[in-house]
Amino acid sequence: MSFSVVALPMGWLHVDKGSLTYGKGYGTTMWIPVWAAAILGADYKILIDTGISDPAWVQRDLGMGCRQSSDEGIEQALKKIGWKADEVDIVINTHLHYDHIGGNVVFPKARFLIQESEWHHANQPLETQTWAYSERDFSATDYFRWTFLQGAYDVVPGVRIVPTSGHTPGHQSVVVQTPGGRVVVSGDAANLVENIQEEIPPTIMVNVHDARRSVQLLHRLAQFTIPGHDPDVKAYAENTNLPSVK
Ligand SMILES: [Zn+2]
Repeated sequence: MSFSVVALPMGWLHVDKGSLTYGKGYGTTMWIPVWAAAILGADYKILIDTGISDPAWVQRDLGMGCRQSSDEGIEQALKKIGWKADEVDIVINTHLHYDHIGGNVVFPKARFLIQESEWHHANQPLETQTWAYSERDFSATDYFRWTFLQGAYDVVPGVRIVPTSGHTPGHQSVVVQTPGGRVVVSGDAANLVENIQEEIPPTIMVNVHDARRSVQLLHRLAQFTIPGHDPDVKAYAENTNLPSVK
């Protein structure tokens, strides 16, 4: 089986760089992309994360700059790769923050793979993270479509979910074997390639030890990567055209 991983553009958020790299670069604001990904070449149609559902809500309720152009978002991305929403078999949500699950609602037949510990946290978050969970978004998925995982999980041979807690208690990343090397879709365990290369934990986290162990794990595993929010990823780039990790 020869897999390909494709970066799908979901929109943009305006943040301080220090909020991504444990304070490094604090005071520099930047627009960061929101990435989802598709795995092509499997017997199943597999997506990783589904982006933002409502940029106006992000601006109003979170007070954060947010934009999504007419060619960004999950439905536009599906068109671009030639998939229909009701053909998608599996959605892997790295975690349940609003900017990773907003498009879940458009997949009527998919199975949604998350860590059981993430489900519990989303329903009763640490107070510092209540803002990042939108109950409207995760309750939009029929409860019986969730599959609750407890640790690493092989989705199909060559596509492995690995726990990368720290950013949230039940965060997970996805490692895909492609002909050109291992591609890691990190979610927010690493916001930027820099987080992996320099083993810098993300700033938003529930546990610094776990977050640090997770970036170290990703550094060992990744040859190429789609981090959750790196501007160096190009829309629809695949495999060896994704940022490489040294
Ligand atoms: Zn997050």
